[in-house]
Amino acid sequence: MPFIYALCASAPFLYLLWPIPFMNFLSSLSNLFFPSICPGCNTQHINEEEMICMECYHNLPYTEFERLENNPVEKIFWGRTNIKFASSTFYYIIDSPIQHIIHHIKYRGQDNLGVFMGEIMGYTLQTAFEKHEIDFCIPMPLHYKKEYARGYNQASLLCAGIKKTTHLNYNDKLITREVNTSTQTKKSRIERWGNVEDVFTISNKSEILDKNILLIDDVITTGASTEACANILLNHGAKSVSICGLAYTI
Ligand SMILES: [Zn+2]
Repeated sequence: MPFIYALCASAPFLYLLWPIPFMNFLSSLSNLFFPSICPGCNTQHINEEEMICMECYHNLPYTEFERLENNPVEKIFWGRTNIKFASSTFYYIIDSPIQHIIHHIKYRGQDNLGVFMGEIMGYTLQTAFEKHEIDFCIPMPLHYKKEYARGYNQASLLCAGIKKTTHLNYNDKLITREVNTSTQTKKSRIERWGNVEDVFTISNKSEILDKNILLIDDVITTGASTEACANILLNHGAKSVSICGLAYTI
């Protein structure tokens, strides 16, 4: 009887000795009944701790532009603004896992997936960061209404992931987007450039003075918004501006 009494009394402490295996057991049980679907291929079941399945992970369409001078992303900005370095980690391929992953980050609330993709960006860009002596990152700002509706800025998530792998800091409070430019998609590049020129505001100009700044964007297409943002930073004393996207549309 005293033995049973002692066992009952120590039961809560015994539980404390193996909480992690117990949690893993619960997680496995939950995965058995409610497996996660890979956001890339929408088919394979993945564990709770995995962001995408192994097949999607190994088939991500890397550009390797970070190793290539005069790469296609840099060429976007030729004759438009003075960019030190530009790249994109992946190609944006329609109806492929990378498009689906970006869709889940932007429209399905998968903020952890955004940080995860930022970590991959960090791995690919680390050497370029050192070569170009980048001081810190700035995520391309969203208009506050859009950020409020989404709950986050996806470019900030990418910056958080980059910080995890490279320790490069970011500041997502320095630039604000005053005008929502989402209705401009049908306008030509030149018209759009004319409109976005005045939509960004820098809150603390002393923080950008003589700094090598890296702008981070999710998808680089015409580069009109990033160009405007880069010009404002350069006009207010930034030493240099570089641009990196998660994906680049071919
Ligand atoms: Zn997959």
